[in-house]
This record gives sequence, structure tokens and C-alpha cells, in this order.
Amino acid sequence: MKVPSGVRVAGNADVSLKAPNLWYLENEGEVFDIVFFASLNLETRSYKFGSSELLLSHMGTSPEIVRHLSDDIGAIHLLYSKNFGPLSSQKSNYHFIMTTRKNGPSYSRGNFAVMTKMDMSEYRSLFKVTAHEIGHFWWNKADINSWQDWLNEAFSDYSSFMALRAKYGEKYVTALWQKAQESFYTLPPIMGISRTHKKAQEVLYQKGAYLLHQLRQKTPDKQFFDLIKSTYRSKVVTTDQFIGQIALFYSEEDVAWFRNTLAAGKNSE
Ligand SMILES: [Zn+2]
Repeated sequence: MKVPSGVRVAGNADVSLKAPNLWYLENEGEVFDIVFFASLNLETRSYKFGSSELLLSHMGTSPEIVRHLSDDIGAIHLLYSKNFGPLSSQKSNYHFIMTTRKNGPSYSRGNFAVMTKMDMSEYRSLFKVTAHEIGHFWWNKADINSWQDWLNEAFSDYSSFMALRAKYGEKYVTALWQKAQESFYTLPPIMGISRTHKKAQEVLYQKGAYLLHQLRQKTPDKQFFDLIKSTYRSKVVTTDQFIGQIALFYSEEDVAWFRNTLAAGKNSE
């Protein structure tokens, strides 16, 4: 791509400058499209966590938000490392683009997320999304095309609730859990839900996160996080493997409760 002098480019691809003003975008994955941004104001910061990397690009976003988010990214990474264990050497990367457009949805292409411009009043939702995505540096091994994806999504969502609690306090998060609790038994079961079910997102994310929240409340925190650390270390990819992990740290009764709750919910529309 040829651009005027001084314009920088970012996209869901490996982006490199081949010659002055000549940018090259290459993605060898199976992608639907390549989204790119070209701007004189484009700035990218890199955050390295072991062999994983998070890139944050913005174009004229207020320095206040960028500074806030940078500090929070560091804090979230520390919180997760402490509770889930240090990241393994497996490589992950994630790229956020904060755009200047005021309307329209935020969207993503795999590990590349495009955020509609946010002001400080919407900072909590930006924080939540960021915390969820950083969670995926740990939780990314299960099959994304089946219900096993709850091991990625619910774990990352649960992680984001931990980050929200650390930043905004217990009260704020309790109110969010309350909502998840209310819908828990009216949503379809997590076990076996089709990835294309219209409630799949709610079930695999929020409902799954609330299931983990309930599991945590059954034991002292240390026991729960020993389970979580062991789950990460053991590279769990299926729910059966996760249940095997639970059995190492919890009573038989708790394991039975977990199996039942995984299958609990309303199947009808
Ligand atoms: Zn996710």
C-alpha cells in the first residue's frame, strides 16, 4: 500500500515498511478480510508479557485514556500472573486499535480488535474488554468451534471480573454477579450448547463465568486458585480434563455439583 509521507499503517496482518511510504500487509491465516488503518496520528505502544505481546494503537485518543489504559494493562497482567501463574513461553499476541470514529460498533478479527472512540465515561467497558482479552493470554487452548470454548471465554470473562473487582471494588462486581445469577437457570446448559445457538455468547461467557464464581465460593480462595493455576499449567483443553483438575482440589460432592450445574438450564426457547 502506498501512502503519503508520514502516514503510518496498522492492520490485522504483519505490517512492515518496505520502502519509504510503501507498506506491506501480509496475513497467512484464513482471514475473511484485512482491516487496516492509515493515519498521520497513528501511534502504537507495545506491552511485552514474556513471549506474548499486546499492542495498543490509537489515533488522537485523549492522552488521559491512553495513560489510564497503559497503567491498567500493567496492573491486570500482574493480577493474572499472581493468580493464574506466570505465562508459559507459548506466544500470543493481541492488537487493540482505538479509532476516532464516534459511532458504530467495536469489532474484532481474531486477535485484532477495533474499538469505537470512547470517552472516560465509557472507560469501564473499555477496561472490561481489555481485561477479557488479556485473560486470553492464559485461556486460549480449547476448541473455539464447540461448547468447549467456554474454557476460553468463561475463564477470560471470569478473569475480567477479577480485574474489575480489583479496580472498582467488591460492590460493583457483586451487582454484576447478581445479574448473572438471575439468568443462570433460564439460559440453556453450558454443556453441549452449539456455538451457533443464539444464546451461545451469553452461555459461554457470562453463564460460564458465574459457574466459576460459584465454584470459587465453595472453598477458601487459595484452593480455588491452586485449581486455576494447575488448570493453566496442565494445558487443559477439554471440560473432562478440567473436571479431572477439580477432583484434585475439591470433594467428590463438589465435583458432582459441578457436573450437574454444567448441565443445568432451560433448553426450550
Ligand atoms: Zn474472548
